[in-house]
Amino acid sequence: MKGSPAGPLHRVVGIETEYGVTSTSLGPGAAGVPLSVEEAVQEVFRPVESPRSGTHRFTTAGARLYVDVGSHPEYAGPECLWASDVVAQDLAGDALLADLTQAANERLAPAGVRVHVLKSNTDAWGSTFGCHENYQVARGTRLPLPGLVGFLAARQVLTGAGALPALGTALPARGEEVPAPGLPLWPLRYSARAEHISAVSSADPTHERAFVNTRDEPHADPARWRRLHVVAGDSAMSPWGTAVKVVLLDAVLTLVEQEGWDLAECELLDPVQAARTWNLAPATLCPRRGGRPPLACPDLLELVLERLAGAPGLGTDALTKEVLELARRGAQALRTGEAAPVSTELDWAVKHRVLSRVAQRAPQGWADPQVRRAELAYHDLSRSTGLREALSAAGLMRPLVPADVVAAARTQPPGGTRAGLRGRVVEACERTGRALSVGWAHVRLDEPPQPQIDLPDPRCSQDEAVEALLARIEALGEAPRRAPGR
Ligand code: ATP
Ligand code: MG
Ligand code: MG
Repeated sequence: MKGSPAGPLHRVVGIETEYGVTSTSLGPGAAGVPLSVEEAVQEVFRPVESPRSGTHRFTTAGARLYVDVGSHPEYAGPECLWASDVVAQDLAGDALLADLTQAANERLAPAGVRVHVLKSNTDAWGSTFGCHENYQVARGTRLPLPGLVGFLAARQVLTGAGALPALGTALPARGEEVPAPGLPLWPLRYSARAEHISAVSSADPTHERAFVNTRDEPHADPARWRRLHVVAGDSAMSPWGTAVKVVLLDAVLTLVEQEGWDLAECELLDPVQAARTWNLAPATLCPRRGGRPPLACPDLLELVLERLAGAPGLGTDALTKEVLELARRGAQALRTGEAAPVSTELDWAVKHRVLSRVAQRAPQGWADPQVRRAELAYHDLSRSTGLREALSAAGLMRPLVPADVVAAARTQPPGGTRAGLRGRVVEACERTGRALSVGWAHVRLDEPPQPQIDLPDPRCSQDEAVEALLARIEALGEAPRRAPGR
């Protein structure tokens, strides 16, 4: 894949990522007192903050940047129609946060402290934060939730970011590594989120961690569409993890829509428990509903992949084929415990290789503090203290979209959706200094006040009212400067 979008999806898809923030002192000679999480987030968002909208803003790419509950910076990417756009927009969010963090660290250096922004899922206090996927589906589609959730339990492990056990859990010291048959990734788990999921679905996933958020908020014409809001997945450092998550679920939903597939074969007796079990030992058999024989995680994934392979018209383009083939290799790796065939693409395998090397060299083996520090560095977005760029440069993490495409995605919306309309209005108002109200499904010029323009169809990328508004903004020119302090 070069610069043009690839991996056509059958619906609008958007990804939201919540980031973790920590602060450390710069160390000997310049040791300041680390900032609290709230102070650190405030420092990172200083250039974003405005008196009118606080730390919340939509970007010219059509994305939403804000601080979510619990002081987590969040980048909610715009609506995309291509898998490569979903990946590029997700990486653009990372790059934006990395730059904000670098600028904060330059301001903080004289105080002897720095801030780290982490694309991970848990913090030192055991709280978890997430990566949400959003899939547009027709209102009339009957979503077979029990089967979908069974599939998501298996997908959770396949696309997990890899995770050391919680802080405070002892790790094996040098010479104490015991062979662990059936636990191939040990002492890592495959997914960071799996052990925190406690419900199949929930309308309040902040308090009850679930696979699916059932709050009905389509961000579109509610009579025509709903938004399947998957809130279980691990945040991906490897772009291939994001691609596998999105391509697989989009394809599964397409079979639900086109063939009425009910995913009955994927219904597990206890999907929450299955995700936890497979997270340690994916080859374990977990019971299914309806009297069907139990399945291991790779069995369930292969069952789905076979069904997708038999669907006419699915996976005919190069990127989708490649992603489905990677999912097949991933399922096989979960079966055999042999990570090498996916070791540059799936996060758990990339991370296991990195941490194993650190553990081999560190004086105390896995128990050495260097191992936990390396895990943090794996998720650190900073180009200097984070590992992603070095891993890519060393061929240990395979890129999916070129760097110039990611750079462009920071300011340019993906094609084919209303994100383009939103982004152009944001750009015009930023340039002319005019106040604007924006949501996923509307834009409104507030200065001077204009009627709201509704954008109820996420796939609509052309709109006469928006064109007229853009012309009006150009005709108005720059807004009069406000007196300081107002
Ligand atoms: P929360 O803060 O609880 O996550 P939310 O899910 O409404 O609330 P936002 O952070 O505003 O979250 O992000 C919405 C996400 O949904 C974005 O990634 C956006 O691209 C995507 N999206 C918007 N409209 C649709 C739609 N109609 N179908 C699918 N995805 C959509
Ligand atoms: Mg959100
Ligand atoms: Mg969300």
